[in-house]
This record gives sequence, C-alpha cells and structure tokens, in this order.
Amino acid sequence: MIITRPREWERIRDDLDQIGARAVFIMGCGQCATVAHTGGEEEVLRTTALLERDGRKVTGWAVGEVTCHLGGTRLDARKHADEIAASDAILVLACGAGVQTMADAVAKPVYPGLESVFLGNVVRHGVFEERCQMCGECVLDKTAGICPVTTCPKGLLNGPCGGMWDGKCEVLRDRECVHVKIRRRLAEQGRPVPGVLPPKDYSKKLKPGSVNVRESRAGGGGR
Ligand code: SF4
Ligand code: SF4
Repeated sequence: MIITRPREWERIRDDLDQIGARAVFIMGCGQCATVAHTGGEEEVLRTTALLERDGRKVTGWAVGEVTCHLGGTRLDARKHADEIAASDAILVLACGAGVQTMADAVAKPVYPGLESVFLGNVVRHGVFEERCQMCGECVLDKTAGICPVTTCPKGLLNGPCGGMWDGKCEVLRDRECVHVKIRRRLAEQGRPVPGVLPPKDYSKKLKPGSVNVRESRAGGGGR
C-alpha cells in the first residue's frame, strides 16, 4: 500500500491563502490513506475542524472508495457537485496518485493534504515498512526474497559494506545487515550465493510508468 503522512499544516494554509480560498471541499481515500490513518473519515473530520478554526468554510467532504480510480472519483465528484461548486479549492487526503485523479476529475484547484512517502508492507496494524521501490528489474529470485536495493540503507545491490560489524548494519544498528540476512536465508534453504549481481538496468524503470492490460491481452503491451 502507499504510505502517506500529514503535510505540514502551514504549507496547506499557505497554498489555500495564495488563491484566497475561504471555502474548501475535502476528499479522503478509503484505501491506503484510511489504513495509514491519514485520509479516512476520522482524519477528514479532524481536517474539517482545523480549516474551520482557520475561519474557512468546509462545503462538504467525501471519502472515495479508491481515490486513485478515475471512474470512481468522477462519480464521487458528480455526487458532490453542488458542494464542490460552492468551494474555492479541494483538499485531498490521499497519496499523490489520488490527488492527481481528483485534479483530473474536477475543474477547481486541487491541493495535496498529505505527503506520499513510500510503498509499504503492513508489518502489523499501524506499522509499515518499505520493502520495494518498484525498480522494474527484480532480484528477489537471487536474494532469497529480501530486497537489498530497498532494505539496505545504502541501497547496495552487492554487500556487505565495510561498515558491517558482527552481522549488524552500520546505519541501522539494531538490525541485522541485509546482506548477512540474505546469505543466512540462502544457506538455510540450501541455495547458492549468487556471486556479484550485475549493475541494475535503470532504463527498466521508465517514467512515467504505464501498463495497458487491455492492449496486452490483445497482443500489445505496456512498460
Ligand atoms: S529488486 Fe527490490 S525494488 Fe526491485 S522490484 Fe524487486 S523488491 Fe522491488
Ligand atoms: S551494513 Fe549491510 S545493510 Fe547496513 S549499510 Fe552496510 S551493507 Fe547495507
């Protein structure tokens, strides 16, 4: 899921002040931002109180089922058309993808209410960890299902670095060095150590990413 954190309130206030927005519509997200406790109903209501404390009017709000889904967000925008029409700006409590979807769905100025920080694993309720940066050329087959690119603080594909001591990471000292962990798991599973992995081909990580499943099924593709 996409992990988000609240954006600095001063920055949101400055954005709204810049266009003289006194009336605001708030859009949350029922998926990742709800699980991360940054953009669900509770946070939307808290943001409503903050805006009202600033002397602004909240014309309405919604929590989209999946705010990065253009069709669903357009539908929500239609359902709340009057409240959106009465607003000067839309504040979106969702990841950057959700903010852009909302900006495509309405004609009003749209502002992010959150910062998008990483693609996260839910380790347990309320605890998220980054395990994948979506590099487009996965090495997990060679590294026992542990991503060195993401989970080594230096992003080293091959390691350990010279700072590893007694199996521990020199940066995150309470953690086992990722490369030690990879070797340990490979040994436990009776698998060979892969040797030096070749440099990653970052051309595989083309931006902006785009996949068209419909075309792929019809024999086309995506990247
Ligand atoms: S190598 Fe790491 S960053 Fe790349 S796709 Fe695999 S898990 Fe994700
Ligand atoms: S000790 Fe290991 S995990 Fe920590 S920075 Fe060095 S190589 Fe990466």
